[in-house]
Amino acid sequence: MVSPNPRFAFELECSIDIVETSLGVHFHCWSVDWKLRPRIMDFFWLHHFKCLMELIPRIGTQRAGVEMALIDAAANSIGIPLWRLFGGVSNAISTDITIPIVSPMEASELASKYRKQGFKTLKLKVGKNLNGDIEVLQSIRAAHPDCLFILDANEGYTANEAIKVLEKLHEMDVTPVLFEQPVHRDDWEGLGHVSQIAKDKYGVSVAADESCRSLVDAKKIVQESLADVINIKLAKVGVLGALEIIDLVRPSGLNLMIGGMVETRLAMGFAGHLAAGLGCFKFIDLDTPLLLAEDPVFGGYEASGPDYSFSNARGHGGFLHWENIAW
Ligand SMILES: [Mg+2]
Repeated sequence: MVSPNPRFAFELECSIDIVETSLGVHFHCWSVDWKLRPRIMDFFWLHHFKCLMELIPRIGTQRAGVEMALIDAAANSIGIPLWRLFGGVSNAISTDITIPIVSPMEASELASKYRKQGFKTLKLKVGKNLNGDIEVLQSIRAAHPDCLFILDANEGYTANEAIKVLEKLHEMDVTPVLFEQPVHRDDWEGLGHVSQIAKDKYGVSVAADESCRSLVDAKKIVQESLADVINIKLAKVGVLGALEIIDLVRPSGLNLMIGGMVETRLAMGFAGHLAAGLGCFKFIDLDTPLLLAEDPVFGGYEASGPDYSFSNARGHGGFLHWENIAW
C-alpha cells in the first residue's frame, strides 16, 4: 500500500498513422509524448484524444485496446506502473469468482474448490430457471457456508421473478451482497422497481451492468436512482469512457463495480491496475483469467487465490506470448 495520491490529469501528444489493409485497419502510433501534471482531474486531457477518438471505431473493445496501448506507452515512457499512473491508492485488489450456470452438484464442487483457494465472494450466474437457481444456491451454501454471494441474472428475470428470488432467499436467510442486472437492459422501470424493493425490503443492492453501456446510461441511472451500483467494464465503454463514468458516479452516492468480458491477464490486468490505483470500487469482478485453460501472458500481476498484486514494473508489466497467438 502507498499513500493516496491526489488525482491528476495528463496530456498526450501523438501522431497516428492509419493503415488500411485487407485485414482491416491498423493503428500505428509513431510518437507518444506524455507529460504528467499534478492537477485536479477535470478530463482536460480527454480533448487531446479527440482527433484520435474520431478515427477509432466506436466499438468498446477496439477503443479500449487502443487506449490501453497508449496509456501503457505513457506509463512506460515515464517509468511508473499503471496503478501509480491512475492514482496510486493501492497496488493490490481482491476479486470474486464466478460460478457459471451448472448443476447443483457441479456448483457445490466449484464452491468447495474456491473455498480452499481463499475466495470469499462467489458470483453466481442465475436467470435461466428460478427454481433451479435456488437449488444451486442451496448446494453452494452447503459447501461454502461463509461465502458472500453476488447474483448475476444477466437480464434473465422479469421484475416480478427477480423479486420472487429475493423473497425465496430471504426465507432461506440468505442476503446477497449484490444482485446484478436482474432485468432486461432496456427495462428501466423494472430495474428501478427491483432496486427499490431489494434495498427497502431486503437490504440488497442492485447493480446495473448491461443497462449501463455509456455515459448517457450512467447519467440516467444516477439521476433517476435506478440502481445502487454501476458495473464498469473497459471493454464496454473504453478506458476514457470508464473514467468519465467513474467521475460522474463517485460524487453521486452510488457505488462502483468493475468487471470484464472473457479476458486474459492482459486486458484484465489493465483493469486491475486501474481499480487498484483509483481505489474506488466496492465490488471487483476480474476473475476470467482464472477460468481460462491457458495463460497467454507472461509477467504482469501476481495472483494468489482471489488476491492480485501489482509490482513497480513500469507500465502494465505483462506481455503476450506472441508465438502462442493464432492469427
Ligand atoms: Mg454482469
